[in-house]
Amino acid sequence: MTVHIHPSIDSGVKKGSGSFAGGTLVCKCKDRPVKVGIKGDVAHNHACGCTKCWKPEGAAFSVVAVVPRDNVSVLENGDKLQIVDTSAAIQRYACKVCGTHMYGRIENKGHPFYGLDFIHPELFTEGGWSAPGFAAFVSSVIESGVPPAEMDGIRSRFKELGLEPYDCLSPPLMDAIATHVAKSKAA
Ligand SMILES: [Zn+2]
Ligand SMILES: [Zn+2]
Repeated sequence: MTVHIHPSIDSGVKKGSGSFAGGTLVCKCKDRPVKVGIKGDVAHNHACGCTKCWKPEGAAFSVVAVVPRDNVSVLENGDKLQIVDTSAAIQRYACKVCGTHMYGRIENKGHPFYGLDFIHPELFTEGGWSAPGFAAFVSSVIESGVPPAEMDGIRSRFKELGLEPYDCLSPPLMDAIATHVAKSKAA
């Protein structure tokens, strides 16, 4: 049985060009698609199994990365964007018509990832962005209905793809969060 993770990595993880200068994210609408411009490359790209990330049709995982919020600008048809859940830490701006999440923004200045927007690089019309480097919140796909018995297969597939599976974020990101917490407690 083939384990499907996400269409952009199921046939192997495509390496980034190392010199991606940015591009345009486009939603799935044929008519008046929402276009979001991104300056520069993405960082911390990864597969994510959490229940909040947008996933393409049939995918158990999302592929999600961050960019500095100042590098994100809505170029076209921004009137179609709405925030999925205004009470969430990450305000995910999605197309009202096709449901695609275009970017997620943190407005709480005390949040460890404040200043970074979350985007789905597969929506770029251009190629060459930094490849996913790990898998986060892998166990959470069970909450979205993946049978627990499939987890061994999913984790081995991630290892085969060269993406270490974690049930939270990667150690460097968990360290960054803990450092932020330690600093804000000391302040
Ligand atoms: Zn759309
Ligand atoms: Zn997620």
